[in-house]
Amino acid sequence: MEVGPRDGLQNERVRIPTASKVRFVQALAEAGLRRIEVSSFVHPMAIPQLADAEQVFAALAALEGCRLSALVPNDRGLERALAAQVREIAVFTAATDTFVRHNIRASLRESLDHFASIVRTAKGHGMAVRGYVSTVFGCPYEGEVLPSQGIAVARELFDLGCDEVSIGDTIGVATPGDVARWLGEAQRTGLPFERIALHFHDTRGTALANVLIGVQMGIRTFDSSAGGLGGCPYAPGASGNLATEDLVFALHGLGYETGISLDKLVEASSVIATQLDHLLPSRYYQAARVTPCLPA
Ligand code: MG
Repeated sequence: MEVGPRDGLQNERVRIPTASKVRFVQALAEAGLRRIEVSSFVHPMAIPQLADAEQVFAALAALEGCRLSALVPNDRGLERALAAQVREIAVFTAATDTFVRHNIRASLRESLDHFASIVRTAKGHGMAVRGYVSTVFGCPYEGEVLPSQGIAVARELFDLGCDEVSIGDTIGVATPGDVARWLGEAQRTGLPFERIALHFHDTRGTALANVLIGVQMGIRTFDSSAGGLGGCPYAPGASGNLATEDLVFALHGLGYETGISLDKLVEASSVIATQLDHLLPSRYYQAARVTPCLPA
């Protein structure tokens, strides 16, 4: 699941023109990505970078062979997504109550109750729905988080009708051992792995190692961001999404088929790279853009 256009760009300071976002998504589709989170129907004042969600979706209406989705924070967001003829939406909550209160000014319980009606309406319109659970491996406010907390929220999201649940390491503290323990417990409680996605941040350099544990244990959907977009190393608190290039390179090395062309993926990242105020953090991207030079 490519999340660069939404999760990546929402963390970038430089305002990206709508036409560039459209070209970026088209290039990602050409590279072979089949699921792309394009934008968010959040209030334009909350995230000005994504205020052009309607225009971006309108410009991509003809794009075929690719599932495009949008984040929907509330009823108003769902109305906008429906009007824009978006076919797939995502709702977001967290494993910890304090994080939810800081981000959406509601309790964890209230957020889940609110999503019940959003998911019902969305499903009634034939939309696919993804649920995000943040802070599964650690919370900036509550610290350590037990596996049972994230598992309980994921289960509720499935019960509400979510087709897929993305398990997020929001602050990038998970180690491969944490992921193995979490998935082990999730497996014992019967969470459906074919409908679980893992969303890692590379804040402490463990994102790719965490993915490989996930792959070994049977997970097949991973969220990542082209170029590592949103992971600006100079901005404190930047999200540090795992880079799609680095993920695809590692998976191909293990013999997995992703349907993604790494060369075309680098081209897609280049569309945005030229407009940013920093280098893209993806290691593969950087290596691919450097002209090899011989020692003098
Ligand atoms: Mg992220």
